[in-house]
Amino acid sequence: MRQPIIAGNWKMFKTRAETSAFFDALIPQIQDVEHCDIVIAPPFISLATAAEEVDGTRVAISAQNLHWEENGAYTGEVSVRMLLDAGCKYAIIGHSERRQYFGDTDEWVNRKTRAALKGGLQAIVCVGETLAERDAGRASEVVRRQVAEGMAQLTEPDLSHIIVAYEPVWAIGTGRTATPEVAAGMHAEIRKIIAEIQSKAVADTIRILYGGSVKPDNISALMKKEDIDGALVGGASLDPASFAAIIKYI
Ligand code: PEP
Repeated sequence: MRQPIIAGNWKMFKTRAETSAFFDALIPQIQDVEHCDIVIAPPFISLATAAEEVDGTRVAISAQNLHWEENGAYTGEVSVRMLLDAGCKYAIIGHSERRQYFGDTDEWVNRKTRAALKGGLQAIVCVGETLAERDAGRASEVVRRQVAEGMAQLTEPDLSHIIVAYEPVWAIGTGRTATPEVAAGMHAEIRKIIAEIQSKAVADTIRILYGGSVKPDNISALMKKEDIDGALVGGASLDPASFAAIIKYI
C-alpha cells in the first residue's frame, strides 16, 4: 500500500510574511486529512518560517534544490546540512526548470540525490520529456535515461527514500494536463524501468507523483489511476483554498 503524497512547489513565489499567511489559511482546512502525506516546497529564504508554521501538523517542508557538497566556495548554493537545519524533510531534485534554465544534468541530479539521501532527506526526483521529445516519439527513451542516470549507484534501501515525480515539460504551467491515461501509462513505464534497474519489490513500493497543471478539477481523475501515487503541484499550490481542495481529492 503506497501512501499518496500531495506536494506543492512554490517556485520563486512568496515572502516570509506571505508564507505565514498561507499556512494560517491552509492548516485549519486540512486538520482532518489522514489519507495522504502533504509537502510544501517554498523558496530557500522561507524554509525556516514554513517549518515553524507547520510544526505539530502533518505538513512537511521541502527544498526546491540543493548542492551536493557539505560546505565550500559555492556562491549562491545551499547544502543538505543547511536544509536540515532549516527544518526540511524533503528536497525536490532535477525539476525541469532547473534542467532548462540552470543547467542541471542527469549527473548533477544523481549527485544531488545521493547527497540528499546521505544527509537524511527524502528526495523527490523529477523526470519528464519536452514537447519536442514527445512529438519525436522519444518520451520513453528520455524518461528511461533520466531515471537510470539520476538514480545510478543507489541501493535498494536508498530507493525507499526516493519519490519520483513524472512531470512532462509540456504540461508544466501551461494549463495542458496529461490525460490520466497518458500519465498513468508513463508511470507504469517508470515502474518497469525501476524493476529492471533495481527490483520488482522496489518498483512496487516506490511512489510516483504526476506533475503538470494539476488543479482541483483534475486531481480526482488522476488519483484514480493505480500507478499515480500523488501530485507535484506548481501554480495551484500557491492558493490555500485550491491546494486544500487538491489535498482533499477523495
Ligand atoms: C511544477 O512546478 O512542478 C508544476 C507541475 O507546475 P504547474 O502545476 O504550475 O504546472
